[in-house]
Amino acid sequence: TLEGRTALVTGSTSGIGLGIARMFARAGATVMLNGLGRPEDIAAARREVGAAMGGGEAPFSDHDLSRPAAVREMVAAAEKALGRVDILVNNAGIQFTAPIEEFPEEQWDRILAINLSAGFHAIKAALPGMRARGWGRIVNIASAHGLVASPFKVAYVAAKHGVVGLTKTVALEVARTGVTCNAICPGFTRTPLAEAQVVAAARERGISEEEALTEVVLAKQPSKRWVEVEEVARMALYVCGPDTASLNGAALSIDGAWIAA
Ligand code: NAD
Repeated sequence: TLEGRTALVTGSTSGIGLGIARMFARAGATVMLNGLGRPEDIAAARREVGAAMGGGEAPFSDHDLSRPAAVREMVAAAEKALGRVDILVNNAGIQFTAPIEEFPEEQWDRILAINLSAGFHAIKAALPGMRARGWGRIVNIASAHGLVASPFKVAYVAAKHGVVGLTKTVALEVARTGVTCNAICPGFTRTPLAEAQVVAAARERGISEEEALTEVVLAKQPSKRWVEVEEVARMALYVCGPDTASLNGAALSIDGAWIAA
């Protein structure tokens, strides 16, 4: 369903981003990866997504999205490598938890830069091409924390609420252009980022990791199970697929009924 499309997926060397890149490649898109991490993990991701595209290594950008200039350079590199960017998935994100009085100022700045501002800079850079071609799909990976809060996550919750606001504003501006901009709001999804929070919650509260998983993390999620990466990727695929011209400005929840509570 994405035959002939090109896609740039940020933060796609791990977790949800890698899952989206893999599924888009299998659906026929040419995908550029981006992210940080260990060289061997990046090489494995490039081979895997490359294989799904029919062989070779997927194109890759190692731009650090905490820097606005690097975000712009990443979009330019993608336009060069892919010819154009039809689909932009703003997925890169980080987490840090602490009570607000103890929340380090540099963590606040870093989370806002990567989780929120990088999306603004990437959309600003990629949108002119989409507009000119009369088609584009922008998918911002927000979170259930884009719609409701939890304690100790002040920067993350603020940034993700910002992502939902960014999404709605862009959607209005592109409403008659053939471009759409939507947010996906996953609940706790089985990835390295979320699994690290189980370890952190266990340490903070002096309980076992099993207890932390069910009592702290999945306490929010009525389904009492992880959301799987493939479930989120399938939703992103749908948003970018056919017959979605009217799907614009939405914050799509996939959270085991978390925000229904
Ligand atoms: P992850 O840690 O597995 O992957 C994060 C990716 O972002 C990696 O590829 C990493 O290299 C990249 N990244 C981090 N900092 C970067 C930077 N400065 N520049 C470029 N790339 C950078 O995390 P994940 O769980 O897959 O999270 C992906 C997105 O989904 C995030 O925006 C996260 O907030 C969101 N999300 C995750 C969950 C969850 O439970 N896992 C739930 C809701 C939303």
